[in-house]
Amino acid sequence: MMNRRNAIKLAALATVAITSNTRAADPAPAVAPAPVAGNPPPVISRDYKVAELPYAFNALEPFIDEETMKLHHNFHHQSYANNLGIAIGKHMELNHKPAEEMLRHLDQVPEDIRTQVRNHGGGYVNHNIFWKCLTPNALREPIGPFNTALGKQFNLFSGFKEKFSKAALEVFGSGWTWLTMDAEKNLRIESTFNQDSPLSQGRLPLLGIDVWEHAYYLKYHNRRAEYINAFFHVINWKYVVERYEKGTLES
Ligand code: MN
Repeated sequence: MMNRRNAIKLAALATVAITSNTRAADPAPAVAPAPVAGNPPPVISRDYKVAELPYAFNALEPFIDEETMKLHHNFHHQSYANNLGIAIGKHMELNHKPAEEMLRHLDQVPEDIRTQVRNHGGGYVNHNIFWKCLTPNALREPIGPFNTALGKQFNLFSGFKEKFSKAALEVFGSGWTWLTMDAEKNLRIESTFNQDSPLSQGRLPLLGIDVWEHAYYLKYHNRRAEYINAFFHVINWKYVVERYEKGTLES
């Protein structure tokens, strides 16, 4: 029979095992804080919804696998939306305000929720863009004036692919690599840490690749370069071009 001391030892070992299997940086699932006795329950804004994917969870196979898509969309993205809702619940005067607008003007967000809006609002908006940047019916490269502008800026489409891939590979830790546009329609490749949005730098993200481990680890393990290469097979250039042509930071 297991005595108490051994039971405690085993429990401690189990804790260590679980901890060492958990990759850092991904946020814990969002749950509303438990009401404290005597305090009213927290107000939670319900306005930040995660839209359904515009394709099936397995539609991007074999490039992005079904299980990753399900976890990424249903848990990670949902968690950012929930946590943003909890933050905005503390300032209901901001309810109904587009998250993009708050990210563009972080300095105007009340200080007590600014970090949450930056992190969870960023995660919410970044993933909204990310899903739309993907499609099972991808063109290999964009067409029209956008492709001309891209080629001019980065030395043909192949130059763009090479520079974008290199930037995505070099993100240290968790973050994103973006193709962005400024108010003068200048294109640039830039990376952001954590869930920071290029909107906070006054630039419009046109295309983004999520290089947090949760975006690729199940299928690609530590082989981020393979994931980046696979991403290029499922880019929705039609959506990217639409954002470029709309040409406004207000979108
Ligand atoms: Mn993600």
